Formats: sequence, C-alpha cells, structure tokens
Amino acid sequence: MNVLVVNAGSSSLKYQLLNTETREVFAKGNCERIGIEGSFIGHTENGEKGTLEVALPDHRTAIKHVFDILKTVDQPIEGIGHRVVQGGWYFPDSAIVTDETLAQVREVAPLAPLHNYAEADVIEICRDMFPELTNVIVPDTAFHYNMPEHAWRYALPRDVVDKYHVRKYGAHGTSHRFIWRTVHEFMGDKTHKLVSCHLGSGASLCAIEDGQCMDTTMGLTPLDGLIMGTRTGTIDPATVFYLNRVGGYSIDEIDTMMNKKSGMLALSGRSSDTRDIEEAANAGDENCAMAMEMFFYRTAQLFAEMAASMEGVDTMAFTAGIGENSDTYRQGVADRLAWMGVKIDPELNKVRSDDPRVISTPDSAIKVLVVPTNEELMIALDVKRLIEA
Ligand code: AMP
Repeated sequence: MNVLVVNAGSSSLKYQLLNTETREVFAKGNCERIGIEGSFIGHTENGEKGTLEVALPDHRTAIKHVFDILKTVDQPIEGIGHRVVQGGWYFPDSAIVTDETLAQVREVAPLAPLHNYAEADVIEICRDMFPELTNVIVPDTAFHYNMPEHAWRYALPRDVVDKYHVRKYGAHGTSHRFIWRTVHEFMGDKTHKLVSCHLGSGASLCAIEDGQCMDTTMGLTPLDGLIMGTRTGTIDPATVFYLNRVGGYSIDEIDTMMNKKSGMLALSGRSSDTRDIEEAANAGDENCAMAMEMFFYRTAQLFAEMAASMEGVDTMAFTAGIGENSDTYRQGVADRLAWMGVKIDPELNKVRSDDPRVISTPDSAIKVLVVPTNEELMIALDVKRLIEA
C-alpha cells in the first residue's frame, strides 16, 4: 500500500510517500519556516534534492503545496498517516480520522499546542481535498498509554490529576514501538526485556517487556527525563517557582529557557549538536567535556531506572541521531553501565550501517544493539493495518 506520512512541527511539515511492502520511499521532503519569512520546501525524489522557495503562511498552505509537488510522482496515494505528538487520554492505539477523533486531537492540544493544532489543520485539509482517502491518526503517546498505573500516575492530589489529566504520557512512542518490533524480529525469543534508547536532539528511554511499555523517561511533556539538545530533562520542579519568585522570570520565559536554551546547548555553552560538543571537548573545552560526562551519567542512570521498572533487562538498543551515529556516545553510556555487565566491542561499535546490528561482546550480560529507527514506516504500517481492518 502507498501511504503518505505527514508530520507537522511548530514551523515545519515533513512528508514522505512510501510503500509498505517494498518499503520504497517514492518522495519525501520538508516544508520549513512555515509562518516565518524565507519559507521553502526541500523535496527529494528519485534521489534528487530540490528546493522550492514559496510563501508558506500556515500549515494549510504547506500541505496544499505538498499535494501539488506529489503530482509528479507517478504513484497513487492510498492512505494518509498523521503523526500526532499528543494523543492525551484518548488514544491507546492509532485511530482512523472521524469527526470524533479529530475533535479529540484538538481537545488534548493544550498538552502540545505547537504540534497538535497544526496537525489537526493538516488532517482537515487532507479530508477536504481527498474525501475518498482514509486518514489515520498515529499518536506518539499511544504506545505508553497502557503502562502500569504505578508508572504513569503522578503523586499529585487526585482531584487535580483527574480534572486536568495530569499524568505521564511519554513521547517517541512510535519510534520505541518500531525498535521493539525490529529488535524482536532480529533477536527472536532472546529478547524479553528491552530498554530502547532513542537519543536524538529529543531523547527518551523506554522499558519494554514483551512488547508492552512498562515505563518511559518523558512525562506529561517531552521536557522530562534525559538531558537533551536544548531541554533540561528532569530537574527539581521547585526550580520553576524559585526562578519565578526570586529570579523574576515569567512562566513563559522559564518555559522557553527550559525547552530551548538549556540541555547540551547550555552545558557546553557552544552548541546543541553532540558532534560540535565532542569536537570541542577533544580540543580541551572543559564545559563540553562536562556536558558529555553529564549526558553519559544521566543516560546510564535512567537506563538503570528503566531496568528496575522491568526487574531486569536483557537487551539495550541505541537509536536516533546520536544513538545511531555516535560510537563515542554509545561507548560513554556503556562504560557507565559496566557494573551491570554491559560490554561493547569497540570494533563492532565503529561499524556504520543502515541495518540493525549487535555491538556487544559475546560475554556481555546485556545484548547491545544499534537499530536505525523508522517512524514513517511504522506510521505507514499502522495506516495499512487500520485500513485493512
Ligand atoms: P535526531 O533528532 O534523531 O535527528 O538527532 C539529531 C542529533 O543527532 C543532532 O543534533 C546531533 O546531535 C546528533 N548526531 C547526528 N549525527 C551524529 C554523529 N555522527 N555523532 C554525534 N552526534 C550525531
């Protein structure tokens, strides 16, 4: 089945047209700087990249341009999958778009306002333009929906939790689900307790036992957990009150500080990109060396937390920008888990490949894998599953 996968960010809209059987990607691209001056669409087709400078005042305009561009691809679109960042308390699984499910995406949008409203607009346009096509909502939170209550519940007053639906929702669920599926295909019955390590500019770990999410490091929002490119990860929540009352920062300023100006960017004082940080650390920059040390420390610490949530772990899988590409970061995390019996083979760790691969030594207590993630394929497979059902 040919599926168009659409993923709206706050000022971007990524798209990919692919086939679920052959996994061939016919075309893909990104509409960038939506609502900002200098907007453009970067489009790749048949391996050739092109750029179209075009005014993109909003996501509705962007998706119309995408359909125009895709007319040149000689492939029918048979279904559309929409990545929805926040499914809130409504989506334990992906769901076909109806008036009701679309309204639910909007209802939970205050939990992810920059993303959900944009994707809801895009869904609406897709329905209007192609009423004969089935649209599917694929929430990034769905995989975490059924984690045990002791993992998702926050120790806040019950009336507040109930009224405002405050709980751990997690994120990167589509990626963690894909990683479980791939690891399970690859390892067969050897994997039961997996910690999926999605380490990109956003980063989260997920404890997965026999396909079921047992816990994850992101919380109500994707600010929680690991140290990320520009996000703090977990810090004492009272920091917010302190900065507000004593520092004089407004809540919005603290929101921006913690989401956009913190993390590896703040620690290194240079960049949010782990490549720049590694290069500077190697050249003697002490702040960058400390940023790396803290990234390894927190990742290893939360790995152990995920293992505790399953009372054990047999497999660890690295994925996303850092997890797939950086042998230094993988080694740094693994070294701090040597006490758990994690042992990486330095040579295997250096191998570069687009395929899943084992990088641990035969005597490692935990199998360590690198598994390239493919959220678009996972979304497309959900579209096919729901259409066929
Ligand atoms: P993602 O959000 O999954 O696209 O990951 C993006 C991040 O991956 C970038 O910001 C970099 O920090 C990191 N990254 C990509 N390639 C490498 C690499 N070769 N070495 C270290 N970090 C990398």
